[in-house]
Amino acid sequence: MRGIFIFNQLGEHHSMARKSVYFFGGGKADGKGSMKNLLGGKGANLAEMAGLGIPVPAGFTITTEVCTEYYDNKGKLPKQVHDEVAKAMLKVERVMKKKFGDAKNPLLVSVRSGARMSMPGMMDTVLNIGLCEATIPGLIAKSGDERFVYDSYRRLIMMYADVVMEKAAGIEPVDGEGVRLRLEHAMEAMKKAKGVTEDTDLDGADLKELCDEFKSIVKKTIGKAFPDNPEEQLWGGIKAVFQSWNGKRAISYRRIEGIPHEWGTAVNVQAMVYGNLGDSSATGVAFTRDPATGANVFYGEWLVNAQGEDVVAGIRTPSPLNETTKNESNKHLKSLEKEWPKVYKQLYAIRNKLEKHYRDMQDIEFTIEDGVLYMLQTRTGKRTGVAAVRMAVEMAESKLINKETAIMRVRPEQLDELLHPMIDPGAEKTANQIAKGLPAGPGGGVGQVVFTSETANEWAAKGKKVILVRNETSPEDVEGMRSAVAILTAMGGMTSHAALVARGWGKCCIVGCGSVRIDVRARQFTAEGKVYKEGDWISLNGTTGRIYEGQLPVLPAQPEKNKWYSKLMKWADVVRQIGVRTNAESPEDAAQAVAFGAEGIGLARTEHMFFEADRIIHVREMIVATNEADRRKAIMKLLDFQKKDFIGIFKAMAGKPVTVRLLDPPLHEFVGSLLEDRKELEALAKNCGVTPEAIEDRIKALHEFNPMLGHRGCRLGIAYPEITEMQARAIISAAAELTKKKVKVMPEIMVPLVGTKAELAHQRAIIERVAAEVQKEYKTKIKYLIGTMIEVPRAALTANEIAEAAEFFSFGTNDLTQMTFGYSRDDVGAFLPIYLENNILPRDPFEALDQDGVGQLVDMAVRKGRATRNGLKCGICGEHGGEASSVKFCHRVGLDYVSCSPFRVPIARFAAAQAAIENPRKAAKSKAKAKRSAKK
Ligand code: ADP
Ligand code: MG
Ligand code: MG
Repeated sequence: MRGIFIFNQLGEHHSMARKSVYFFGGGKADGKGSMKNLLGGKGANLAEMAGLGIPVPAGFTITTEVCTEYYDNKGKLPKQVHDEVAKAMLKVERVMKKKFGDAKNPLLVSVRSGARMSMPGMMDTVLNIGLCEATIPGLIAKSGDERFVYDSYRRLIMMYADVVMEKAAGIEPVDGEGVRLRLEHAMEAMKKAKGVTEDTDLDGADLKELCDEFKSIVKKTIGKAFPDNPEEQLWGGIKAVFQSWNGKRAISYRRIEGIPHEWGTAVNVQAMVYGNLGDSSATGVAFTRDPATGANVFYGEWLVNAQGEDVVAGIRTPSPLNETTKNESNKHLKSLEKEWPKVYKQLYAIRNKLEKHYRDMQDIEFTIEDGVLYMLQTRTGKRTGVAAVRMAVEMAESKLINKETAIMRVRPEQLDELLHPMIDPGAEKTANQIAKGLPAGPGGGVGQVVFTSETANEWAAKGKKVILVRNETSPEDVEGMRSAVAILTAMGGMTSHAALVARGWGKCCIVGCGSVRIDVRARQFTAEGKVYKEGDWISLNGTTGRIYEGQLPVLPAQPEKNKWYSKLMKWADVVRQIGVRTNAESPEDAAQAVAFGAEGIGLARTEHMFFEADRIIHVREMIVATNEADRRKAIMKLLDFQKKDFIGIFKAMAGKPVTVRLLDPPLHEFVGSLLEDRKELEALAKNCGVTPEAIEDRIKALHEFNPMLGHRGCRLGIAYPEITEMQARAIISAAAELTKKKVKVMPEIMVPLVGTKAELAHQRAIIERVAAEVQKEYKTKIKYLIGTMIEVPRAALTANEIAEAAEFFSFGTNDLTQMTFGYSRDDVGAFLPIYLENNILPRDPFEALDQDGVGQLVDMAVRKGRATRNGLKCGICGEHGGEASSVKFCHRVGLDYVSCSPFRVPIARFAAAQAAIENPRKAAKSKAKAKRSAKK
């Protein structure tokens, strides 16, 4: 028996069982909004709303603990749960003035799942539970509406057969055609036979006949009769919810979202309210603000005489909630505001109440039963990155939240969307528009059409860009949606499954594009009378909903034109305590990064400058030279090129620090391709005055078994000091030249792949000697630093010694991760996916810094380095410098700055601000100081 044991004074113990069932309704609730872990998101918020006096149909929540227990007990529920459910049901009956299973005045209920975190569409709800041969006549008499009752009944049979009898029972449909599909076909056939198009055109007699047919199809398909007993239906529903927690779709969604499998789901049993009770009833969904743009307008959709998921399922085009938010596809329909102004006003007041209470945008479900409004759900709404930024800023400005909360509201990765490329508007003007749908996810998406999730996955794995085109998406499509660059659906509204999921991911998505006719079997769609086949290119503008033929050019984003973004980033920069630099080699990239807020260059890789056509020849001459004199001659030809490069970068950075890394890759990389290119090889041989064979021999000699651990980094500069000499000369003379022209410069020379202090000291001596010579030549003094990358584990371990020769450390976490794990980054593809799949690793360590392992080396090296050299400047220049969780780690271990690629600079700035809010550093290390030291 589970429970807490309480000992009395005699040492006897009683088991005081934990509460399994929480009631809500009639203005009261056992639970509250903060109990999400126990009641799930839906249950906790239903309780919260009930407590706030918002009209919520009465019901109760069975806790997530019961779900865990259900699995521990191999699918059995303890008696205590049955008892508590019976008691709670009595309370519901009292509030609703109806009785579950009663022949005269039957109470019907819904059985709804609800995990801690919202998992759109993952778990299935069954409505109208309690309808059976015994209760049908009573409900008909009570409502005076036979059509309504049989409409509810056919829905119950379909949902119950699908969710409880098939999916939860683990039955795999024969020929892939599940019971739901068969029932849908039967309904279609019925409509056709009656010559009608809408579900609502079927009358009571039609639906009654349909229900009989449904029941016989269920029997035939599943081999079991649909249960004609309210209790059996209720418990079947409850167990099915628990069962669906471990359904394939739910598991796959949790894997993608990183939701722990142990959490379990709660079950909500709630009195039904009927949106399908004729033309004075309706159902709808809404967002308290526009989830796509963030605008402070009440945004939603509703359908007369409908129930449950009709709005989301896209069977009819839903109507707009109000006049201001009408769009292309629903502007001809009547808004709730115009149609039923009183109910709208009431709903609007609830909208305001909920926002004020939750202090965040809410995603709500409501139903109107014969003119009376009920709320069925509220939760924090998913939103695009664009909307997240605007809402956060506007809520802070209206004092609903403070600025720090506003900063914490936006996930750093969401900014990515504002930084997302857009379809070139110029090209859009002349492009062939083939259709228009609803703009559900912003940005541009260009790719090849595919029609199934499987194809999307397969093609994407081959590196193709695909656009998933579907009538509507369902949770089964989640992985394919993930693989696609964009999603297009023919049906569904702004609150459809596709829209919700894409918005959560910040992915380009267009929904409800009715003019696109899809034939999945033929793998093609038709639009404007033209056929588009699988593999054809199309382009989507997810911000406007326009779809174009072909492959349109995309433009980089211009976040600086978004005023809310600019404001939020300003607030973030005020709280941020570490600097943000960029990794860039070209003046153009550097300028882009500065526009994004970069405060310096943390990594300029000189080898990238070596590959240009006019230089590679000299690089190769240098490499194949067999004596110092020849090598020096070749190298000196490179000097002028390098100097020009540095002048360009230094100018672009206008006095901000620039870290230049000396030559790093193994030399074979520059010449390896010559073995396949006889012409080039002969040209080089001629240039060097040797035979092609001699060159070939030299190249072969450079071959290494494991170049990553081979002759590279400072090992090159030690073997060929002339290379270091030339690079130091190029850097310092570029600085000298600019200094003379009164341009500020701040070079930091960085020696790569150091593992011992002696290596660094060797290189340092060369750099210092050359720097002295150059300063003498130019008759000017240059301020510069010499430091090293910490990327070999030994360097981290001996950081106290290395700091004696280094004025700064920059953590090269790509190599550090390779060498700490012993994974070659280029070969990791063979096993990393398997590792992630099996939870051997929680995340790709090349994407998010492994804080427990590699992070320890970083932390230790910072401490050891600073123990030797007080205030030693430390930064990071690996890819991790632009990944939010890694940036936060860098803040915590005391780095002075992070450096990342230009497009990730805003994300790094923002993540650093969040880190400062989460773990503020002492006042002494304010941002001003961090900035100053970043410039030092
Ligand atoms: P999901 O998590 O997929 O949104 P829900 O449990 O919210 O599933 O239910 C699905 C649909 O059924 C929603 O539209 C919801 O509003 C509706 N619904 C659930 N319970 C009731 C009820 N007691 N009365 C009327 N409609 C309900
Ligand atoms: Mg659902
Ligand atoms: Mg819902």
